[in-house]
Amino acid sequence: MTPPDEPILPGSTLGVLGGGQLGRMFVHAAQAMGYRTAVLDADPESPAGLVSQHHICTGYDDPQGLAELARLSAAVTTEFENVPAAALAALAAQCPVSPAAAAVAVAQDRVQEKAHFARCGVACAPYAVVETAAQLATVPAALLPGILKTARLGYDGKGQVRVPTAGALAAAWDALGRQPCVLEKMLPLALECSVIVARGADGTIVHLPVQRNLHRGGILAVTEVFAGNLPRALAERALAAAMAIADGLQYVGVLCTEFFVLQDGSLLVNEIAPRPHNSGHYSQDACDLSQFELQLRTLARLPLTPPRQHSPAVMLNLLGDLWFAPGGGEQPPPWAAVLALPGTRLHLYGKREARRGRKMGHLNVSGATPEAARATALQAAALLG
Ligand code: ADP
Ligand code: MG
Repeated sequence: MTPPDEPILPGSTLGVLGGGQLGRMFVHAAQAMGYRTAVLDADPESPAGLVSQHHICTGYDDPQGLAELARLSAAVTTEFENVPAAALAALAAQCPVSPAAAAVAVAQDRVQEKAHFARCGVACAPYAVVETAAQLATVPAALLPGILKTARLGYDGKGQVRVPTAGALAAAWDALGRQPCVLEKMLPLALECSVIVARGADGTIVHLPVQRNLHRGGILAVTEVFAGNLPRALAERALAAAMAIADGLQYVGVLCTEFFVLQDGSLLVNEIAPRPHNSGHYSQDACDLSQFELQLRTLARLPLTPPRQHSPAVMLNLLGDLWFAPGGGEQPPPWAAVLALPGTRLHLYGKREARRGRKMGHLNVSGATPEAARATALQAAALLG
């Protein structure tokens, strides 16, 4: 359905497909501005469903659930890129939806995603598509050692197998269920960074500062954002690439682009996420507009003004592992001691059960200077263990 030209004003209901933590933080941002929300997620205890005025407990492919979401909502967005693009397309026939199903479909599939990067003139890691057993034999030797990644449905390092030699390729493909994959060359990374842009329906585009990210075990662990966290020329190249990628998709919404920086200084795009991103959480406490408010503004067609970061920031991800003390026994981390550190803000997602590797929350740390923010983050990390 064609989106309205007029802004959708506070008091209206906005819908979210997916009930995870990103949806929860969108709901918080929308409610803070006086909107009502409707979340569709099959889990009765989903983090976003728990805090939304309306929670439709059905699967993403349930026509009745989707119709109910469309009936309640003035416009709908998504918080989870693995929502079937078909569900977004079905919704779009009934109410305004952003980002569009076609853009989400590109981000859902590593093969389409890489083709889009090429169309935008942005380099990515050398790769080969592996869709059949026969293609395994034709993979160029120069791609090894590499990482075999499922084309669809991977996240947080899941759906990936490291492949040291050509001889290990067939077993890796078996381990991933013989589904369409890409084999990427394993690159010597100097660092990783990401950029969040918000693009409105009128083509206005704004961005958050370039974020420097540290991953552990394929999962984001720490994001640092302050002047000097990256060489300026590199940050400018990343920004230009992220904007070209969003423009090329005619994207409406918040889009995160992840990059690799190699030891020789070259910048390669890794992947995109058609939604707010874990590496943008610092914006909740260190910027005058958070990534969730940017998502709200794009969805409600409110003005997009350039966000300004007012404090140097470090974000620590809080995985379920922190709940398991070394001596055994499940206990919450020492929140009171962490919050006694000035400049710390705790965000927890309301998940009842802590599991290893599960994202339970994050800690935003800000400071007057980068050194102060880093020092506090180190103290917090020491307390968390
Ligand atoms: P996910 O969808 O799980 O985030 P990514 O493709 O971003 O998957 O991979 C997760 C992490 O694994 C990356 O952030 C990076 O640290 C590492 N990684 C992925 N691909 C490569 C590569 N080709 N070379 C080196 N490291 C990689
Ligand atoms: Mg990633």
